[in-house]
Amino acid sequence: MNSGSSLFDTLHSVFGFGEFRPNQEEIVRAILEGRDVFAVMPTGGGKSLCYQLPAVMLEGTCMVVSPLIALMKDQVDGARANGIRAAYLNSSLPPQEQSAVIAELRSGALDLLYVAPERFSQEQFRGLLNGVKLSLAVIDEAHCISEWGHDFRPDYLSLSALVELFPAVPVAAFTATATHRVQDDILKRLSLRNPLVVRASFNRPNLTYEVRFKDRPNEQLTDIVGEHPKQAGIIYRTSRKSVNDTAAMLQSRGFRALPYHAGLTDEERKHNQEAFIRDEADVIVATIAFGMGIDKSNIRYVVHADLPRSLENYYQETGRAGRDGEPSECIMLFSQGDIPKVRFFIDTIIDEGERQRALDALSRVASFASTTVCRRRTLLEYFGETLPDENCGSCDVCLGKRETVDCSTEAQMLLSAIARTDQRFGATHIIDIVTGSRNRKLLESGHDQIKTYGVGKGKSKTFWRQVVDELLAQKIIAKAEGLYPTLYLLPRALEVLKGETSVTMLRLKERTGKKNAPA
Ligand code: ADP
Ligand code: ZN
Repeated sequence: MNSGSSLFDTLHSVFGFGEFRPNQEEIVRAILEGRDVFAVMPTGGGKSLCYQLPAVMLEGTCMVVSPLIALMKDQVDGARANGIRAAYLNSSLPPQEQSAVIAELRSGALDLLYVAPERFSQEQFRGLLNGVKLSLAVIDEAHCISEWGHDFRPDYLSLSALVELFPAVPVAAFTATATHRVQDDILKRLSLRNPLVVRASFNRPNLTYEVRFKDRPNEQLTDIVGEHPKQAGIIYRTSRKSVNDTAAMLQSRGFRALPYHAGLTDEERKHNQEAFIRDEADVIVATIAFGMGIDKSNIRYVVHADLPRSLENYYQETGRAGRDGEPSECIMLFSQGDIPKVRFFIDTIIDEGERQRALDALSRVASFASTTVCRRRTLLEYFGETLPDENCGSCDVCLGKRETVDCSTEAQMLLSAIARTDQRFGATHIIDIVTGSRNRKLLESGHDQIKTYGVGKGKSKTFWRQVVDELLAQKIIAKAEGLYPTLYLLPRALEVLKGETSVTMLRLKERTGKKNAPA
């Protein structure tokens, strides 16, 4: 066993760090003692050091299983720059180089070997490992072994044989994302033996969270970008088309924005990503394809212009803001109308289990967006963490940016308009009725004659759309599926119409700040 002083010596001399980050020392010590480890640490928490340091100190080779083939080379280059004898084996490597790495492995000349998971399922590779002294087996992105995680990879299942095949080798599993349920699943599938379990805090105190009612996304995105002149930001959208459209819209308004999605050529993607990293572009408009392995510390804001797929995704994507510890904003634009759009895609999932998980994830993220309690608390509770303070002081709910208003009267106006038009029209038409629009479709339908026509003239369309949204959220009305999403009344609507139930909603308090335009 190595002495404590050599632990710090190695930290200084090999890695050049003055001290450990939270949890690192505990994990390193457990590994050095030969104990299994399971650690959940947020991105940027410093997981690599937890196994690279033991890899240097222990005799033999540390094998790291990682699904991120694209990042292996960077990892290895980084380790080599620190003087660690590291290599990787994956399908991207030409056969000749693979043979060279295998020879190094055989001769015991490697401290660290990165491999892709499918490699481990190969008999031949397992045979090779049998002739090698393994010091440690590391499972990176360990959530990939669980079907309950957001990124299940069947290749990972072969890792459940690890402990049985190499009983003398300690196993350390790491992930940046695991609910307690996923954690239990990982521990069971890997058969970890009395592991040290570490859950680092997921709280990111320098991030503020805010959800804004999505009404006119282009104007809202322009405002947000305008509020952050010359600052780096990411805007996430779901589809490639909306990424392109939003990037073009921002460009036409004078902002330095670039698109990023899997439909661009490798060259375009590389160019746009590098322009962003070098601060030549301020805003990247991207699908979730963007961000894996992006190491840019000064991202000041992340916007979700569409509903993210899950709370895990939301956490990961917003987590790219403020890596430097400076205050940064996470803003989501959300309206109930986004939910059916996501459902539409979920309905195309053939695998029953997968579809159910996607539905669960959608309902969690939708309820996060509609919640009236602290966003930070909701997010952290999802990861099994409780926040000590009732008020986090840095989300829209805790900052009191919203106020509860009674909109029972307005709800009645809308419900009555829906009822009087036989529940055959969509939100736009219903709002046109209550606001007294003179548009042709409305006049031709004779709906300017009904009793609620124009009763809500004084309030903006945004306000009315939000009331409709609230009625949908509270299941007082519903939207028919199909080409024309008409609104119809649910049983509770009657109670509201009779005045037996009141309707309240959270509204953003009027903003006093001025609008910024790009220079
Ligand atoms: P993760 O894999 O958990 O996302 P990394 O291992 O990539 O995190 O580490 C994130 C960053 O933190 C890296 O730049 C790494 O060099 C740095 N880092 C890790 N441990 C320490 C430490 N003890 N002191 C200072 N910096 C550290
Ligand atoms: Zn809060």
